[in-house]
Amino acid sequence: MLRRSSEHQPSSGPTLSQRRCWIVLTHANPPQPPRISFPLYPCFILMGMSGTADKTFYLETFGCQMNVHDSEKVIGTLLQQGYRQVPTVEEAGLILYNTCSIRDKAEQKVFHRLADYKKLQAQGKKFGVLGCVAQQEGEKIFERAPHVSMVCGSASYRNLPEMLVQIEAGKRSTGLDDRATDHCFETEYTARTNPHRGYITIIEGCDKFCAYCVVPFTRGKERSRTSSSVLAEARQLADLGYTEIQLLGQNVNSYRDPNGKKTFAELLAAMGEVAGIRRVRFTTSHPRDFGRDIVHVIDSVPTLCDHVHLPVQSGSTRVLDAMQRLYTRYEYLERIAWIHAAQRDLSITTDLIVGFPGETERDFEQTLSLLDEVGYDSAFTFKYSPRPNTPALRLDDAIPDSEKARRLAVLNEKQKQISTRRNKRHLGQTITVMVEGKNAARGQWIGRTSQIKVLNFAVPEGMELKTGSYVDVRVTASFPNSLAGEMV
Ligand code: SAM
Ligand code: SF4
Repeated sequence: MLRRSSEHQPSSGPTLSQRRCWIVLTHANPPQPPRISFPLYPCFILMGMSGTADKTFYLETFGCQMNVHDSEKVIGTLLQQGYRQVPTVEEAGLILYNTCSIRDKAEQKVFHRLADYKKLQAQGKKFGVLGCVAQQEGEKIFERAPHVSMVCGSASYRNLPEMLVQIEAGKRSTGLDDRATDHCFETEYTARTNPHRGYITIIEGCDKFCAYCVVPFTRGKERSRTSSSVLAEARQLADLGYTEIQLLGQNVNSYRDPNGKKTFAELLAAMGEVAGIRRVRFTTSHPRDFGRDIVHVIDSVPTLCDHVHLPVQSGSTRVLDAMQRLYTRYEYLERIAWIHAAQRDLSITTDLIVGFPGETERDFEQTLSLLDEVGYDSAFTFKYSPRPNTPALRLDDAIPDSEKARRLAVLNEKQKQISTRRNKRHLGQTITVMVEGKNAARGQWIGRTSQIKVLNFAVPEGMELKTGSYVDVRVTASFPNSLAGEMV
């Protein structure tokens, strides 16, 4: 099951778990790139694999797209090691949780899951904790949940094959590379769950150390892949029939080509020119590293999508300074002005935190006024959650939860009004969407616009569409979180 958790989800589109799931195994340099597509949990044996029948695993993913894509690589690695993925913990020999510790709630979910299934240890099942909670809590997890045999942070995924051998031999295995690691998790084996949109991680880790955030501690230092390896992966995906690519990084635009061949904007331009690729997205951009060249390249390369996700966190320079965000409100708005000045109509989305220690009512009002000034198409909004190791822990988290909840509700209501207004501008437009699925109950197809909006649409009676195809839709209605229309 793949989920993204957040207090407020702006999109009303299908979650990944609602979409039809597929696995596409891709190999980096195969003589003839194989394309193996099949529903997510079939019983299958890969050619050349032996003894796979009894090695089964279940994997649940928590958190962001980076985690979702890490899971695709972990799944590919396990399949390559002779494991078979199954849809329930009951059927699995190995139960894995790829965890998120960005907020306390996400972290607690994992420990609840482990407690819920502890009884299954008596049946010989093994448990592994991967990802951010693994890196953050390390071997303490063995004390809190003694039935766990494997703890592996994301910077150690390349060691998974050896770690699997250890736990199969009945030993415990720990993979906890620290911030010193220079390695990226580049694997030949990626079990992609979507056959049309392929994720590619171009930069791992983070060196920004925002005062509230665990990521620099859980994902290690910033390290980029070479532009040639990223482009090779994109070409391979195009050969396999993918038409959309999403470049990923905690701060994707902090990308630095280790070979010095391409800037981030140049990499975007090169991605946009890969034959067969119709859409290129990138997330998440950090405002400090967001240059005007990114807007110029979007304007000049048609395959780059009409969307920028630029998390602001707060509209108050005083709070931004306390958060150690490395930009002021003025500097952030300067970047927004570049985006507004683009020749293309770009949608802008953001992340916001309310209730950061010391945030006054006046600071909060500045966040509300920033929303008006920017006119975001949508926003992910969060209550501040104190996290281990972070500098903000030293600040007095004096804002009561009830007040954080109030501010969150006010913020969400304001954003809803702005999104409603922003979406109205599409009424009467004809927009190309990628078909993502069908809502049988409503008799509507679900499409995704270049601006990353969900557009539900009707087709002529009896017509069936293929997911992953592109069709033109005339917008006839707009809502806060989606659009509706008719295929033309
Ligand atoms: N690197 C991106 C940036 O700097 O904008 C953000 C990546 S972070 C994984 C995703 C979002 O989680 C952040 O933008 C922030 O809004 C939210 N977040 C991170 N730490 C948080 C915390 N301690 N409490 C509440 N929200 C948090
Ligand atoms: Fe976290 Fe800040 Fe790094 Fe984003 S830039 S991942 S919010 S530390």
